[in-house]
Amino acid sequence: MRTSLAWGLLGEGFGGLGGLSSTESGETKVYDLAIIGGGPAGLTAGVYAARSRINGVIFEQGTPGGQIATTEVVANYPGFTEIGGLELAERMEEHVRSFGMPIVAAEVMSITLDGDEKVLETADGTYRVKAVIIATGANPKQLGVPGEDRLRGRGVSYCATCDGAFFKDRPIVVVGGGDSAIKEGLYLTKFGTSVTVVHRRDQLRAEKAWQEEAFKNPKMHFVWDTVVEEIEGQKMVERIRVRNVKTQAISYLEADAIFIYVGMRPNTGFVQGVIDLDEQGYIIADERTLATSVPGIFAAGDVRQKELRQVATAVGDGSTAAVQAEEYLEELKRAGR
Ligand code: NAP
Repeated sequence: MRTSLAWGLLGEGFGGLGGLSSTESGETKVYDLAIIGGGPAGLTAGVYAARSRINGVIFEQGTPGGQIATTEVVANYPGFTEIGGLELAERMEEHVRSFGMPIVAAEVMSITLDGDEKVLETADGTYRVKAVIIATGANPKQLGVPGEDRLRGRGVSYCATCDGAFFKDRPIVVVGGGDSAIKEGLYLTKFGTSVTVVHRRDQLRAEKAWQEEAFKNPKMHFVWDTVVEEIEGQKMVERIRVRNVKTQAISYLEADAIFIYVGMRPNTGFVQGVIDLDEQGYIIADERTLATSVPGIFAAGDVRQKELRQVATAVGDGSTAAVQAEEYLEELKRAGR
């Protein structure tokens, strides 16, 4: 449905760079630029590409907004002291759509190279493009302990915004010591009788401002130097078996829910073997140009190897990648390719 709307809009908004325009040749749709992923990086790339009148298309298999769409509040994006994650995501999506940039609701399964062209196999058919910006972000990692899979959706969760309200007046456990664990743990204090953070070290990794807020919240408790060994419960989570890594002592935490925030895994399976990835699967891209190991493919946002993964840095990446993609397309045109 979205696809046909996208194609409808296209005719109105885009002439395409250098007179190129989108066409359908048989089943294959042709664009100059494909942006894969509709989080802050991809949507920003979309805004910049659209304003440069690049003939582009965005692919997003879920809800545009990426991780911020399931984040209760964003408090460090300049211009907004505090803004709901979903609201910020919706505003970014609206911004891209206002230029007529199509957002196709389809997964991109693979990219193959055919000379200068990149051929994308998607759930919406085949697309042929000259440049690609990969902005597919990252998904939560699992702990990999017994009970985690079996009780998923029955007290095991990776999304406080989605599931927190089910645990009103119940004890909640959060695992991890990064920004996600502490920020989402604070959000969960709205619901739970208590929120106990289980962390494998005795120091948090989270931003100091979140730490200060967490330490002064009377509902937040911390269990240091401790890892989860098993999530127990018949039909729902009932208790968490934990082990102190210094003393090896085993103990149990009574909890109706466990929210797991132990880091992210990049969504790069579909480009394995096509572009260079690091050992964790993040895309290796040039810090200045965001160019990957394949000419014409750029990486933006959390999906690439980088120091700081924030909305602000994703937005920076998105704009850089779009400008670099435009330069690449112009070079191709100058070379008559
Ligand atoms: P993260 O920063 O990688 O933190 C993961 C946490 O989980 C760390 O404390 C880590 O412990 C712990 N951990 C990892 N594997 C574990 C395991 N197997 N068992 C137990 N604990 C484990 O991940 P994140 O918090 O999801 O954040 C991801 C990125 O998004 C970061 O760059 C973060 O800054 C950013 N982010 C920013 C905000 C914001 O509002 N500013 C919000 C959310 C996320 P160690 O500390 O010992 O390594």
